Amino acid sequence: MAAYRCPVCHYIYAEEVGAQREGFPPGTAWSQIPDSWCCPDCGVREKLDFAMIESAPI
Ligand SMILES: [Zn+2]
Repeated sequence: MAAYRCPVCHYIYAEEVGAQREGFPPGTAWSQIPDSWCCPDCGVREKLDFAMIESAPI
């Protein structure tokens, strides 16, 4: 599964991990996340600004 990184704070959203504090369970695909969602860490960057990465170091 893919992972996506915030270009500002380097927060990583990994599909296999999800973001439970944001209400996205593990396995939530990036395409299922609403376009209005923004980075939970810096709260500035929007979903479209995230950059896809091949795999996330966990
Ligand atoms: Zn961020």
